[in-house]
Amino acid sequence: MTSLNSPADAAGVLGGVRAEVRATPDYPFTPVHAPVKLDQNESALDFPRHLRELAVRRMLERDWNRYPDLHAETLKEKIGAYEDWDAAGVVVTPGSNVIIKLLTELGGIGQRILTVQPNFSVYELEGQMLGATLTRVPLRADFGLDVAAMKRELATGGPGVLFLPQPHAPTGFLDEESDVRAVVEAAGDDWIVVIDEAYHQYSGSDYRSLVLERGNRLSLRTFSKAWGLAGLRLGYALTHPALAANLQKLVSAFNVNVLTQVVAEVALEHPQYVRERADEVIWERGRVQNALSGLKVLHALPSRTNFFLVRTPDPSAAYAFLLERGLLVRRQDKQPMLTGCLRVSIGTREQNDALVAALLELDRELEVRE
Ligand SMILES: *Cc1c(COP(=O)(O)O)cnc(C)c1O
Repeated sequence: MTSLNSPADAAGVLGGVRAEVRATPDYPFTPVHAPVKLDQNESALDFPRHLRELAVRRMLERDWNRYPDLHAETLKEKIGAYEDWDAAGVVVTPGSNVIIKLLTELGGIGQRILTVQPNFSVYELEGQMLGATLTRVPLRADFGLDVAAMKRELATGGPGVLFLPQPHAPTGFLDEESDVRAVVEAAGDDWIVVIDEAYHQYSGSDYRSLVLERGNRLSLRTFSKAWGLAGLRLGYALTHPALAANLQKLVSAFNVNVLTQVVAEVALEHPQYVRERADEVIWERGRVQNALSGLKVLHALPSRTNFFLVRTPDPSAAYAFLLERGLLVRRQDKQPMLTGCLRVSIGTREQNDALVAALLELDRELEVRE
């Protein structure tokens, strides 16, 4: 093996890499294998079997040797019909994370990225890497939007991109609609206003009508969560045709592959399962939170998503305790305001029972020790 790639040489030979990229940390995720996977907010249930089979049959009919639609036009039409949205205002990419990067390219490079803190780390990683000026406005102690502080920051002026998750990740908090509206309306036309609605099926919120009111607004949605298709990689933006056309310029040609297009089309023709499963998750979330309401040392925080935070006195020990019982969760304790917090996805009924049992056991152990 050649030693050209040895880390010892790397420092000296990366002069061609922009300083911003070198200074940006890796995406904070380490894959760990465990029987019960509650670490990535995925759907615990896979895409329904009969739809997988239908998609595979349809895939056999397609030309694998040909490039897919240039900008996934057929898929956009189907998303538009499903969302009651003009297809000319739909942009699709392999995951909404890609749209977040493209929005940073569209309005953030050499300009501003404004978001909240704690936040979804992709907003700031992309901003940092692409040399945007990043501003993070702390959430209130209850994790709601600090409307006054957001307004003050917006008033200092763009141009730039405002990333506003609704409900929030990783806290699971859903703001009052009036607060979201106040912040969105405070953003002048020199801001691109992004409402990231990755989890809206679990919160009952829907900001499409707020987006429709002005041409600089955009809703970000994904097939990775409630649709149970994280492995396919597909996300989309709903916005106005003029903004969509500019965003589209940044999407590489033929970006969404044939398999992803076929599966998403099948899903959009059979969307009933999404609502049913989201309702099941909401029910399970209530059941889990109710079962955890009597915790003495640990504290389960309320949520409007398919995950929630658990505050622990020692997140490292709590993480290991759960992992020993086969339960994989995600640490969030490095984020501001999230001291001691683990993030846990809602799983199947059996998985949730195992989680509750483990957390109650840990809580009893900690209580005795105190
Ligand atoms: C999971 C998630 C997404 C979805 O990302 P994809 O790239 O579509 O899988 C977007 N925003 C937030 C806040 C998320 O948690």
